[in-house]
Amino acid sequence: MRHQLEGSGASRGMALGRARLEQPSRFLVDETPLEQSEVAGELQRLDNALASARHELRGLRDKLAGPLAREVAEFIDAHSLILQDPEFVNGLHELIETGRYHASAALKLQRDSLVAVFEAMDDPYLRSRREDIEHVIGRVQGALSRESSVEERKLASRVGEILVSDTVAPAELVPLAEHGVLGFILTSGSALSHSAILARSLRLPMVVNSHAALSHLQDGDLILIDGDSGKVIVHPTAQDIAGYRHWQREVAQQDERRARLRGVETRTVDGAEIRLFANAELAADVAQARTNGAAGIGLYRTEFLYLQRNQVPGEEEQFQAYRDLVLGMGGLPVTIRTLDLGADKADSAGIVLDEEPNPALGVRGVRLSLRKPQLMQTQLRAILRTSCYGPVRILVPMISAVEEISTIRRMILECARELRTQGYEIADSFELGAMIEVPAAAIALPSMIRKLDFVAIGTNDLVQYTLAVDRNNSELDTLYDPLHPAVLRLLSQIIAVCARANRPVTLCGEIAGDTRFTRLLIAMGLTDLSMHPALLLEVRELVNTLDRSALRKHAPALLRATDRAGVRRVLARLEDAP
Ligand code: PEP
Ligand code: MG
Repeated sequence: MRHQLEGSGASRGMALGRARLEQPSRFLVDETPLEQSEVAGELQRLDNALASARHELRGLRDKLAGPLAREVAEFIDAHSLILQDPEFVNGLHELIETGRYHASAALKLQRDSLVAVFEAMDDPYLRSRREDIEHVIGRVQGALSRESSVEERKLASRVGEILVSDTVAPAELVPLAEHGVLGFILTSGSALSHSAILARSLRLPMVVNSHAALSHLQDGDLILIDGDSGKVIVHPTAQDIAGYRHWQREVAQQDERRARLRGVETRTVDGAEIRLFANAELAADVAQARTNGAAGIGLYRTEFLYLQRNQVPGEEEQFQAYRDLVLGMGGLPVTIRTLDLGADKADSAGIVLDEEPNPALGVRGVRLSLRKPQLMQTQLRAILRTSCYGPVRILVPMISAVEEISTIRRMILECARELRTQGYEIADSFELGAMIEVPAAAIALPSMIRKLDFVAIGTNDLVQYTLAVDRNNSELDTLYDPLHPAVLRLLSQIIAVCARANRPVTLCGEIAGDTRFTRLLIAMGLTDLSMHPALLLEVRELVNTLDRSALRKHAPALLRATDRAGVRRVLARLEDAP
């Protein structure tokens, strides 16, 4: 029966697919004991499901290609090994034969006891491997539940899967996308989470905060998700599917119209140039930044190189990744952000200090880098070595005190000296910038600015820390508001300090690519915005219709607004401005 679930859009686009519930306990588990006469048949069902899961993994491995193939292959191999492990398979057989459990119940028992073993481990890396057990058992459960219907299996291979889960870690997203997942429905989360940011880079729709999804969906349900509106249609009708096709045609037309803006300047009608930079995490983002005519890379999030792997990438590997990025941008400026692991971006290599009571306020970003100087030096060396291939700027996240900048500057100088003595050709000097995303940095910026060559405003975190509202907590959605007067005043101060000191300032939080905020940001005086490259043409299309001087006249009113309603009233007037 068709019905609809609500959520919030976190990564745009639609997808039609089969629900895949990523909560093994949600698989239909038959708890009734088997009759002796049923045991042989149940063993056969289990063996078929195991064979089918192994076959799926082999198929996935054969299809691997591209830069992440090696990492994903490791992930798949680990899963294949579990499936072949005689202890694992014999344990399941025994539960069915001796315990008279159905295969689904045997899998659940096996999962629970293995997860308990992993959870009791001291080593955080090994402990995190419990997810592998869950993935593998989930895959066998999926195969088991598909066993019953050949029709469903055919459908599955045609339309792919949409993952339904409570959460998904950024590190899991790339392998899931490579496994053919078409989209995500999460019962919690937010559009500001790093998972959502990565989903946008992977161009996969994501609905978050869909509380009822896990309890109302069954594994295998056909669903249509809309990552703009946050709606999930369960058992869509022919009419819904026609709507989906219509959306696909509209997107194609819109892309065609916007493609004409690729080589066009971004300039307001009164002649002000607005520079649109790209945020990038993956190689595909760099390609899209180029094709969509980005002014450069305003933010390259290096931490994605460190996720989903169990070893820290070495200098050479990082160098190659950054060099490709710089070469890919063909001489345009590239801003590489040093490692911003921590909080919701935890790695599996155990670099991040785990078990922090409050990770968002913990050892994150530059704090982590300064505690692990070796890690920072390796990264700085790799970045500095790319400086002979094009203009590279170094950006440091989570700065909260001027001493951090001085220390990083010293480290850069030391690394540069060392590289030169080792015979590397590197640039003569390096631009160093700070992410202004902690209120302390925003407030103390006048005393920091002389030590900086440029500034990047990270509103995703600046809003979170100014308002003390977790950017990932869906319960606080309405409180997480970039239009809060306190946020606007901080923004205005940062922009003014940079203007007085003659330092370029870019805004690179998610609002930079959200056309609902474009007028506001231009009114506040920003001229450099950095956004996901997929949003660049849409923002350019709007900017090219705006009048900057008319918008600027509203800046005082924006700052005078005492509450959010007041800010929204001024914004409504901006909409009417040309
Ligand atoms: C920000 O905080 O606005 C930002 C761009 O950084 P990230 O989203 O990676 O924390
Ligand atoms: Mg940030």
